[in-house]
Amino acid sequence: MFDTLIRNARIITMDDAAPIIDMGCIGIKNGKIAFIGKDEPPMVYNAADIIDARGNIILPGLINTHCHAAMSVLRGYADDYNLNTWLFDKIFPAEGRLTEAAVLSGVRLSAAEMLASGTTSFSDMYFFEPSAARVIEEIGIRASLGNGVTALSDDFDFDTDRGVWETFELIRDWHGAANGRIRADVSIHGEYTSRPDVWEKLASLASKHELVTQIHVSETQGEQLGCIERHGMTPVQILDKYGVFENRVLAAHGCWLTDEDMDILAKRGASVAHNPVSNLKLASGIARVSELLKRDINVSIGTDGCASNNNLDLFEEIKLASLLAKGSSLDPTSLPAYDALKLATVNGAYAQGREDEIGMLKVGYDSDLIMLDVHNPRLQPIYDPISAAVYAANGSDVCLTMVQGRILYKNGEWFSIDIERAFHDIYNVAVPLIINR
Ligand SMILES: [Zn+2]
Repeated sequence: MFDTLIRNARIITMDDAAPIIDMGCIGIKNGKIAFIGKDEPPMVYNAADIIDARGNIILPGLINTHCHAAMSVLRGYADDYNLNTWLFDKIFPAEGRLTEAAVLSGVRLSAAEMLASGTTSFSDMYFFEPSAARVIEEIGIRASLGNGVTALSDDFDFDTDRGVWETFELIRDWHGAANGRIRADVSIHGEYTSRPDVWEKLASLASKHELVTQIHVSETQGEQLGCIERHGMTPVQILDKYGVFENRVLAAHGCWLTDEDMDILAKRGASVAHNPVSNLKLASGIARVSELLKRDINVSIGTDGCASNNNLDLFEEIKLASLLAKGSSLDPTSLPAYDALKLATVNGAYAQGREDEIGMLKVGYDSDLIMLDVHNPRLQPIYDPISAAVYAANGSDVCLTMVQGRILYKNGEWFSIDIERAFHDIYNVAVPLIINR
C-alpha cells in the first residue's frame, strides 16, 4: 500500500533510461518513490491518498545550488551597482546590522518563495546557519548549509571566528539531520575575502567529515585579476595549491575561469554553480557553460541571493542558462532543453553530494517532486513536457511541491509556513534594521 499515489501525470523523470512517462503513475511510500510507470500498479486503490494530476507535468523538485536565503530581506535594497560597490558599500554594512531574528525572517520568506516556485533543495551560504537549520527542519524543505568563512582582517583567529564555530556546530548538530534533509557544508566565502592558512584548515575539516565545500570563484574580472596580482595565480589554481579541491567543491559563478582552471576543475570532479541572472544583473560576466560541460565538469544552477537577482525562481535561471549558451555561441543547439533542466536536477543533486537521494524520479529515490499546472494558456499545447517546463513555464505554474513525500505547498497554500507571520516578521524585524540608518 502506498501513502500517496499520483495518477494521470506527464512525468519528466530526468532518468536517461526513460526521461518521459506519458500519463503515468507515481507511488510513494515512507517518503520514497516506490513505483513509477505508465500503467497503474495493481495496488492502486490501496493508496491512502490518491492525487489525480489531470495531465499536469510532474518533475523532480528543483535544486538551487547557490543561494543566500536570508538575503531576501535585502530584495530591492541596492540595485544597479557594480559588484564591489554593491558588496562593500551597500550589502556588507546592511548585513552587519542584521540580528538572528532578522536573518531567520529572511530564511522563512525564501523558503516560502522556493516551495511556491518549485525548489525543494538549496545550498546556502550565510551566517546564523545553525539557527536557520532549526527553521528548515520545521518547514520541511531540504538544505545544505555553510557559513561562508571570511578572514578580512589580520586579527582573524580560526579558533574563535564565528564562521568557523558555526561550521563546527553545523557538523556536530545538523549534518544528516531531519531524516537527511539537512547537511553541513564547509564554506569559504572566496579567495578575495580570506587567505591560505584558512583554506588549508577548512580543507582538512571538509576532508575529515567528507563534506562539500561551497565557495565563490572567479565571479568578476576584478577578482580574477586581483588574485593573479596577489598570488601570481588564478583563484582556482591557488585554492587547488592549498588543498581545497581535494574535497568535493561547489564553486559558484566561474564567469572568468580560464581553460587551465577548467582542466583543474575537471580533474578534481568539482561542480560549478551557474548563476545567470545574478551575473548579468551585477554585470559580472557570463560563465562558459558549454565549455565546462564539454570537459565533463558538473554544472548546476543557482539564483544567488535576492539582493542581486531579485527572486528565487529557478525556472527563470534554467531558461536564461539555455538562452545565454545559445546567444553567446550563435548556436541554437547549445544547451538544449533537457540538458538545461539537468542543471537544476541531476547535476544539482551531484553538486550537493545527494546524487543517490534526489534529482531524478526513480524507484528508491526520495520523493521530492513538483507539479506544473498545465491548465493555463502559457503551457498549451504540449508537444514535449520538457520543452514546456524549460521554455514556457515559470515558477508561478507550480501548483504542488513535495519533499520526502510530504506536501509542503499546494495551490497557493503553505502547510508548514505561516505566511502572514512571515510577512509580518519581514516588515517588523528585518526592514527597520536595514532602512533606519
Ligand atoms: Zn553568492
